[in-house]
Amino acid sequence: MDAVDVHSHFFPDAFVRLIRSHGAPAGASVDRRDGVEWLTLPGHPPVPLTPPFTTVASRRARLQELGIAAQALSLSPPMVHWAPVELGVPLARAFNDGILEIQASFPDQFVGLATLPLQDIDAALREMDRAIGLGMRGIYVATAVGGRYLDAPQFAPMWEAAASRSIPVFIHPQNHIGREVMDRWHLFNTVGFPVETAVLATRLIFSGTLDRHPSLRIVLAHGGGVLPVLAGRLDHAYRQRAEVRDAIAAPPSTYVKRFYFDTVTHHDLALRFLLDLVGPQQVVLGTDIPYDMADPEPLARIRRLGLAPPAAAAVVGESARKLLHWEVTHATREG
Ligand SMILES: [Zn+2]
Repeated sequence: MDAVDVHSHFFPDAFVRLIRSHGAPAGASVDRRDGVEWLTLPGHPPVPLTPPFTTVASRRARLQELGIAAQALSLSPPMVHWAPVELGVPLARAFNDGILEIQASFPDQFVGLATLPLQDIDAALREMDRAIGLGMRGIYVATAVGGRYLDAPQFAPMWEAAASRSIPVFIHPQNHIGREVMDRWHLFNTVGFPVETAVLATRLIFSGTLDRHPSLRIVLAHGGGVLPVLAGRLDHAYRQRAEVRDAIAAPPSTYVKRFYFDTVTHHDLALRFLLDLVGPQQVVLGTDIPYDMADPEPLARIRRLGLAPPAAAAVVGESARKLLHWEVTHATREG
């Protein structure tokens, strides 16, 4: 089956070099410890730059092991939002250009999702134009920038541009909320990320962002975090509370079903629930490689659910190809 992974992370060489040469004043660095290079960006634990993070050959080998034909490449939290604008803009360009080179070399295997310097919305819109114009297939954003969630009015032009130009928006959490109580046991990731995704998704619903842009296509990482299990609670609040009802045109669960969700749930029953709640057309394969929190068996998990063939095909690759405007070519089918 034609498998397309929408959730993966990569650091192109030019991005890493720019951190090495210009990152220090902003608290970013690349250091060698214990024989490994570590990338340290503000607001995120250091990342070991092992080959699957930085080399295409290693990434291709990993995809072959997993049985995945094609993959969207993205940056990773904390994106470039931690940097002053004069560094954030060239970092975004370095990432996007590096990914575009890979996309040009392996057009059947990789496409890029653009990172944007959202600390300056005008610069972000210019970079979005440039990167999409050069062939990137979507934009990849964190949940908040500078303490403001992306439903804030300053980000409205980004949603407008994405909706009007049919550019999919991939949302990856970055732990902002409750950070001070999630400093141990990897809680920032296991609990912070799923909550953070639900916070932005519900804010996009209640702020009217989804009402204003009916054609907007948004993909939520990690199976939407805790959003799916909140659908009933949100609807109950809609029935009970005027301030919830007044905010939007329909019950919240109708908006929940408009999002796309990746499969990175780490639990067969959680994925089953997600599929039952939103339907297989809204669920797309994700791996989260090469992080240690990646799903080690992304395709086997889907197979175990015993979906009907059309539903399985949608989840494994067809919906992702439509989202990414990425046709199946002869080479992909053969490979
Ligand atoms: Zn991820």
